[in-house]
Amino acid sequence: MSKEYQGRPPVNLRREMADEDNRQDVEVAISVKGASVGGYAYHHIDEDGVPICNAGGPDAEFKIVDIGVAKQKWKSPCQMCERIIRQR
Ligand SMILES: [Zn+2]
Repeated sequence: MSKEYQGRPPVNLRREMADEDNRQDVEVAISVKGASVGGYAYHHIDEDGVPICNAGGPDAEFKIVDIGVAKQKWKSPCQMCERIIRQR
């Protein structure tokens, strides 16, 4: 994926990125607090259920949901997590 944004991507692009994410039955983390850093995104989680990009720092609260649920809430893939996964 060539699109990378610092900060919040425009809503139409977020939709597009979510549409490109075809994974099913994957659990992701979404921010409980919403508008704080990364609130528009869903994050990939490690075995402990922690976002692999360390979004929000150690005090951030996340809820683990199915990826389909995250998309219904108009979340889009976290660009930092995507980058980390691509580098694996
Ligand atoms: Zn992330």
